Amino acid sequence: MPELRIRKPFQCAQCGYDLEGLPVRGNCPECGCEIVTSLARAVDGDAEEDHATPREGAAARARALFFACLSILLSSLAVGPAFIASMTAGGGRLAPPGGIAPPPQIDEILRLTVTVLSAASAAGAALGLATFVVFMPIPTDGRALLVRAAGIAAFALWGMLLFGSPGSAGLSPAWSLPAALALLATAPLFRELGTLSRVYRTRRAARQRVDLMLAAALTAGGAWATAELVQTPELAMAAWLLGSMAAALFVFGAGYLVVNAWWILRAVTRPAPRIREVVGEAGPSKPN
Ligand SMILES: [Zn+2]
Repeated sequence: MPELRIRKPFQCAQCGYDLEGLPVRGNCPECGCEIVTSLARAVDGDAEEDHATPREGAAARARALFFACLSILLSSLAVGPAFIASMTAGGGRLAPPGGIAPPPQIDEILRLTVTVLSAASAAGAALGLATFVVFMPIPTDGRALLVRAAGIAAFALWGMLLFGSPGSAGLSPAWSLPAALALLATAPLFRELGTLSRVYRTRRAARQRVDLMLAAALTAGGAWATAELVQTPELAMAAWLLGSMAAALFVFGAGYLVVNAWWILRAVTRPAPRIREVVGEAGPSKPN
């Protein structure tokens, strides 16, 4: 049986040495790492299968998905300024009547944090809107049209909340509606494009489930609505805290979504090589 060799430029996974022309069963001449190890790391074995073949326009949709997730993360940061206000401003739930005056240095840090988070959430709403209006490929079927409409509605709503009354952009029942809509707009893209990324397929523990985030968004909205409706102060406070914790989980989840979307974008734009392209019998494919 003829010896199998690496037949195109292919880097050692450990040291980056070009292994082209070397036998698959050998070791890297530079670091001694087994060549099969480098192959196993770089090649996507499942890419041979049909489910891992990108459909037309997948790169554009993967890019839009990444920006949509980044927008969700940034927009959701609006809960930060609202939480700080709840501790410091007069009338804030966690503040004593009349509010508190933190020491000047802390006050400075808090004000800076509020400015940064507010700017980030405004940028997120603008980016999200641009993503779904401009960058998302033109829908060709009814479901894709719904996805786009949900995305546009989500970020338009987030923008309106931010510019209308900054208080209701975070820690209020109104927050959960754009959060939920934005998730509904990304879920079908994760389902479609997720299979293209080996990392996304295999690293299940680091894969953020969109339905759990949806539950967090709805829990936050429901709990905050309860906090406004119930008369008992202790019950209202408990509901408000529950809502705030659910919102914090949502923000962490959004961070994971960004990472997941990044894996998918990388897999779509720079697909893993297929084993048949990299490995072959020595001879015809390599003239020297
Ligand atoms: Zn090496």
